[in-house]
Amino acid sequence: MSDVATLEEAVWEALAQVPDPEIPAVSVVDMGMIEAVAVTESRASVIVLPTFTGCPAIAVIESDVRDAVAAVPGIQDVEVQTTFTPPWTTARITNEGRNKLREFGLAPPTGTGPVLIDSIGLPRFAVCPFCGSKNTYNENPFGPTPCRALYYCKDCSNPFEQFKPI
Ligand SMILES: [Zn+2]
Repeated sequence: MSDVATLEEAVWEALAQVPDPEIPAVSVVDMGMIEAVAVTESRASVIVLPTFTGCPAIAVIESDVRDAVAAVPGIQDVEVQTTFTPPWTTARITNEGRNKLREFGLAPPTGTGPVLIDSIGLPRFAVCPFCGSKNTYNENPFGPTPCRALYYCKDCSNPFEQFKPI
């Protein structure tokens, strides 16, 4: 495992096992939160792009990323940096991540750009992850975390959470 490219691949594989602390169904890679990985000999440096600045999970993510990368055979030293440049947007979530979110019962962010109600910054509607209906309404603008809003589907009567697109 002296080949740097192989090591870098192993680091990415390890990162793909690190769950998002907010939504354990998806990994930090699924969420597009890994901005860069660099491996020099036995030293790995990882740049993390936190999803939402309002989420108090940055320290957890940094520590989980560090532990996962440190466990990769051949890596002796891990440096984890957090950056807000470029800003994370929901467009960074991978297709696999979107599928996992849907399976988890979380509606993936809709469209390519934010669809917002100006005053409270919420999507006008969300697509129900259970039945696909758009006949939904926002039940609680705040939801369980600053990242998500709670919606209710009028067609299948299921509550669900929607990412606030940013
Ligand atoms: Zn529904």
